[in-house]
Amino acid sequence: MTTTDYDLVIIGAGPAGLTAGIYAARARMNVLLLEKTVPGGQILVTDWIENYSGFPEGISGFDLAEKMKTQAEEMGLKIETAEVHSLDLSEKSKKIVLKNKSITAKSLIIASGASPRKLGIGEDKFMGKGISFCATCDAPFFKDKTVVAIGGGDTAVQEAIFLTKFAKKVFLIHRRDELRATKILQERAFANDKIEIIWDSIATGVEGFFGVEGVKVKNLKTHEEKTIKADGCFIWVGILPNASFLNDSVKTDEFGFILVDEKMQTSAPGVFAAGDVRVTPLRQISTAVGDAAIAAVSAEHFIENL
Ligand code: NAP
Repeated sequence: MTTTDYDLVIIGAGPAGLTAGIYAARARMNVLLLEKTVPGGQILVTDWIENYSGFPEGISGFDLAEKMKTQAEEMGLKIETAEVHSLDLSEKSKKIVLKNKSITAKSLIIASGASPRKLGIGEDKFMGKGISFCATCDAPFFKDKTVVAIGGGDTAVQEAIFLTKFAKKVFLIHRRDELRATKILQERAFANDKIEIIWDSIATGVEGFFGVEGVKVKNLKTHEEKTIKADGCFIWVGILPNASFLNDSVKTDEFGFILVDEKMQTSAPGVFAAGDVRVTPLRQISTAVGDAAIAAVSAEHFIENL
C-alpha cells in the first residue's frame, strides 16, 4: 500500500475538529489537526453558551474552546497552525497542499466551519471603525452609545441582548415581521427595554466619515427610507462555509456547504465532513460534536478496510 504521512488529517479546530481529534487520538490513529488561526472556531466569539449539555450555569465560548483543546491535546492530538490552500483527492493517498509544503493522509475530515455573511453595506470601509461581526470582541467600545444590530436569527438576537450590557440603545433591524431566533431568546429580547426592533426592514448603507455615524434603513412594506443615528453596526445575517480550498474536490450544495451521507462521508471516498461546513438542518455545538464522533469512527473504519 502507498505510504502516507498520516492516517488522518483533520482540517479546522472548532468543536467539530477538536472532537474528531479526541476520537481519533483515542483510537491511536496517527492524526494531525490543521488550524489556520487559533483553536476554538466560532465559539471563541460567542459570549455565553447555555444550551450545551453538562454546563447548567452556562460557559463562555472561550472557556469551552480551551477545555476542548486541552482534552484533545491530553489525549495525544497534534495541532499545527497552517492554512490549507487546496486538496488533491485524485489518488488513494489524499494530498493536502499547505503554504510551504504538502502532506498526505489515508483519510480526511473537513471541519473548517463557517464565517459571517456580509451585506455589502460598507463592511470593508468601516470594519474596525464601527462595523463588527463580534459583540464579545467589540461591545465594550460602545458603552453608553447607540448601536444597530442586523438579523433575526439566534446569533443576532443573542448578541443584541449581550450588547445591551454596554450600549444605551440597540436597534435590531430585521427584514420580516417575525424573528427566526429560538423562542427563549425572543422573549428576552422583547422584555429588554434597551432593544427596539425595526421590523420589515433592511439596512441599505452605512454613513460616516472616520467611523459609523448612522445606518440607512429601508422598510420593505412602506418603502420608506430613513437613517438611524448610531455609533456602531453589528451584522449577523447568517453564515457561509469556509470551503474555498475545496475547488470542487467534493460535492456541495448551491451555497458551498458540503453534502454528506449518514456516516459523514462526502462524495470522495475516505473524505468526511463535520460541523457547520456541511449541509445540515441545525448548526449547534451539540450537532457539530455529534457529526465529529461519527466522522472519526467512519474514518477509522475506512482505514481499517483499505
Ligand atoms: P441564521 O439562523 O441563518 O439567521 C440569519 C438571519 O439573518 C435570519 O433572520 C435572516 O432573515 C437574516 N438575513 C439573511 N440574509 C439577510 C439579508 N441579506 N438581509 C437581511 N437579513 C438577512 O444565522 P445565525 O443566526 O448566524 O445562526 C447560524 C446557526 O447557528 C443557526 O443554526 C443557529 O441556530 C445557530 N446558533 C445558535 C445559537 C444558540 O443556540 N444560542 C446562537 C447562535 C447561533 P430571515 O429570518 O428572514 O431568513
